[in-house]
Amino acid sequence: MRIYKSNITISIPQDLNLTELLHRSGEPNLHPSHLIAKDSLTNRSLTIGELRERAGRIANGLKTSYSPRDSSRWAVILPNSVEHLEVVHAVLWVGGVVCPINHAIKAEEIGHALSVTRPDFVIAYGPVTAKVLEGVDLAARELKDSGIVWDVPEVITVIERAGQYKHFPDDFFVSRKLAIPHYNDTKRFDISLRTLINLATIHLSSGTTGKPKGVELTHYNFISNVYQMRAHDATQFSRDTRVVAFTPYAHIANTTLPLFLGPFMGMMHHAMPSYDLETFGQLVESNKATSFQGVPSVVLSFANTDITTRYDFSSAEVLNVGGLPFKKNITDRLMSKAPWRLNQAYGMTEGAGYIAYQRVCDKLPEGVVGRFVPNIEAVLRINEGKDDAPEGGPGEMWLRGPNITRGYAFNPEANKSAFPRKGWYNTGDVCTISNNGVIAVVGRTKELIKYKGFQVSPTELEGYLNSHPSVVEAAVGPVWDESQLTELPAAYVILKLNLVEEQDRKRALKEIHTAVDERVSGYKKLRGGVWEVKALPKNPTGKILRKQLKDQRSGLGSLN
Ligand code: AMP
Repeated sequence: MRIYKSNITISIPQDLNLTELLHRSGEPNLHPSHLIAKDSLTNRSLTIGELRERAGRIANGLKTSYSPRDSSRWAVILPNSVEHLEVVHAVLWVGGVVCPINHAIKAEEIGHALSVTRPDFVIAYGPVTAKVLEGVDLAARELKDSGIVWDVPEVITVIERAGQYKHFPDDFFVSRKLAIPHYNDTKRFDISLRTLINLATIHLSSGTTGKPKGVELTHYNFISNVYQMRAHDATQFSRDTRVVAFTPYAHIANTTLPLFLGPFMGMMHHAMPSYDLETFGQLVESNKATSFQGVPSVVLSFANTDITTRYDFSSAEVLNVGGLPFKKNITDRLMSKAPWRLNQAYGMTEGAGYIAYQRVCDKLPEGVVGRFVPNIEAVLRINEGKDDAPEGGPGEMWLRGPNITRGYAFNPEANKSAFPRKGWYNTGDVCTISNNGVIAVVGRTKELIKYKGFQVSPTELEGYLNSHPSVVEAAVGPVWDESQLTELPAAYVILKLNLVEEQDRKRALKEIHTAVDERVSGYKKLRGGVWEVKALPKNPTGKILRKQLKDQRSGLGSLN
């Protein structure tokens, strides 16, 4: 195979786990009183010393109260907050594996997330306890029906109400009437974590096909991405960096930076539990923020509104855009709004964060995402992975590197298709790589839809559509919305034959649309509409060829 490599190779420690990383500094003279996080909702701030101390105390509490075994899995269902940082580091400290789940999703989706990660404990945000409990029940039933043994986990509520956090660790364990052991420095590393083998997280991603699966990421995967990002762009990740980021920590785009790289480098991070433009503007001004990240649709709102003039953006240095192709037509407008430089980032859950990175400029062809971070190897394959693409591609990109996942949890089938050769992960992205190492994402073979950076699995939505009584068969595909710079999920359905009259078919399409939208989280709604079709593209064995699904938004349809 023709292997393309990063231009830079660095050495990455293999004897360091994430708890040890928390106690190290990537910057000289980082004092424990150095501020690393602030909560936009409660205004609570956190220094690096406090994070170490509080994570240690919670870890001791978790150990005493729950006696987890090594590598117990802990679902963490919390909004972005400083407590979230503390809990994640406490779980890692006790040798646990964090299974991050977005607290804003629906009970049924939580159920699926729990059934693919099978946690031993669930740590949940108080206001969403009811749906978490429902999710636990659904997962228990689903696993039982599949003959899988799962001890139903206890749900531990740690934050009571939005804006009124239960302070812990001090009263975290009060309900269990257990004294909290004091932080004991000498016990800091009394876990036998092997960084190369032990998992740190199981994130959710649907990968190249099917419903969301659990991506196994080791301590080494994250530590590698921390070192890779630092080596790739040291200027951006320093003690003088102040980031405002709103993507949920459960999404890989906002995991490595606030949780691991930030505390290591002494970056200041503002935890926003959800995105709203106004609060964002206020935070930028009041904290003299230097660095931002967002998907193209979000940065579009910076270009198309007067937010940067109503608030002081003069501190802005870097705007990172990623998750979807960036359209050049807003580059100029964005550049005129603040003194930031614009970066394009290409990353993925299966890579523990960033894969490539590049400053955006007008001369670049569309799709260019920059050069690989250090220590990445890639091949470009064609003919269903059988052959190398001609020099430079385009071809389906497979990756190998220290940050690349070893596979999906409890899912040998998915691993077989995601890893066509040992150690090589098939990204499902079609890319070119120039002779000086510049990568462009020019297409996708995978079936994934990305709505504003969030993954939407066509299989999942088709499951809901096919269970509707008026549907014979359905398929879901992406349509591009230029006005929002995002893909939208659109459904194409074959209706039951008894729906003869046009008005009945129209009504049925509307009903189907409403029924699906009610069952799913906001980002999965069928914003591309539900459209009637007479046939779906299939292979000779009857499998729907989703990649051949074309935009068929004409004729009868429902756009709620
Ligand atoms: P996720 O795991 O949710 O981060 O999704 C990863 C996928 O998003 C990649 O495999 C790409 O298909 C897509 N993606 C991420 N960043 C970019 C980018 N800068 N340009 C084009 N596609 C991207």
